Amino acid sequence: MPRQLLFLPGPVSVAQPVTEALARPLIDHRGPEFAELLTRITEALRPLFGTRNDVIVLGSSGTGALETAVANTLFPGDLVLSCGVGFFGDRFATIAQNYGCEVERLETPLGSALDLQALADRLRKDARHQIAAVLLTHNETSTGVTNDMAALAPVLRSHGALTLVDSISGIGASEFRMDEWGYDVAVTASQKAFAAPPGVSMIALSDRAWERSSKVRAPRFYFDLAAARNAARLGQMPWTPPISILFALDEALRRYHAEGAHNAYARHARYAAAVRAALERLGFTIFSQSGAHSPTVVAATPPAEVDVPDFLQRLRNEYGIVLSGGQGSLARKIVRFGTMGDVGERDILAALATIELALLQMGIAVEPGTGCAAAIEAFGGRVTSGVA
Ligand SMILES: *Cc1c(COP(=O)(O)O)cnc(C)c1O
Repeated sequence: MPRQLLFLPGPVSVAQPVTEALARPLIDHRGPEFAELLTRITEALRPLFGTRNDVIVLGSSGTGALETAVANTLFPGDLVLSCGVGFFGDRFATIAQNYGCEVERLETPLGSALDLQALADRLRKDARHQIAAVLLTHNETSTGVTNDMAALAPVLRSHGALTLVDSISGIGASEFRMDEWGYDVAVTASQKAFAAPPGVSMIALSDRAWERSSKVRAPRFYFDLAAARNAARLGQMPWTPPISILFALDEALRRYHAEGAHNAYARHARYAAAVRAALERLGFTIFSQSGAHSPTVVAATPPAEVDVPDFLQRLRNEYGIVLSGGQGSLARKIVRFGTMGDVGERDILAALATIELALLQMGIAVEPGTGCAAAIEAFGGRVTSGVA
């Protein structure tokens, strides 16, 4: 099997020093070295969440943090407006449903971002403020759609419902200013824009979300945020933490900040624009509507003659280039090209070249080099081999 390059929308390609950190000797999770490690990690995360409040680190994938958000801030019976724009938005809504919330869905066609006007209209109709909370997805990884969280914020603030944001594939790859925009709960995870291995998620709460969490009595134990915050103040996690993953995350965040957040935001956007340009030139249709394109994942419908599973298998088995297919109703219909992780423009070009090769081998009429040319143009001829 060739060495794989992951262009998945998580987990992503991880830099060698980050993988090497996994092999460090373990330390006492109740000792001073661990406290320093955890403090360094949370301090590195705080500006990326855009919050002055605590960032709580959990031993789980991102979904665990979504469940934590619901279990700690929503009451059974709460009317919750789910503003999902794809399959991960559905997952967030299902978690709220499973915790006994009454979930109303504001429907958005797949490929579109949340419509500000539709949201404003629904919230305006709620004159008696029955909607207790709103569930949002910053970046919808299943459809390659990003929501304009800055633009949505004033409408949400003026209603006053608690706002819970899945920013698992958003934070770190694009700006998020939790405090300034007034979001109450935000969630992300290690294996997306931070380019660390999976296994750690992170969550931050506004003051009023913390206040609410002290009253909410949904059954919870492992994901009890009061326990997590009390432990965090001692430089600990309440249960045995995934120490090795935290070593790797610490190294990944050090590399991230060496690049700088604004450079990282620009990098993800530049890669996504190049991939969109290349795929369009090769006859794909970009699935996200214009103005809603995600910087972290490009979802695209291949030309009709392309059998998606066959295409993805060829890329993986023959070239070690790993892309994703679609989820749910989009399975076999779209491909998804993730731009996160320790990859350079060189790697994107390699992936695009092998995409051209696979299409040619499948008998699809593409002019070799045209997709790559579109990407090189989009890169402005400046091609680097890695992130840092
Ligand atoms: C990856 C992702 C998830 C799922 O996270 P896991 O770490 O797989 O549990 C949820 N929401 C979004 C937007 C994601 O990108």
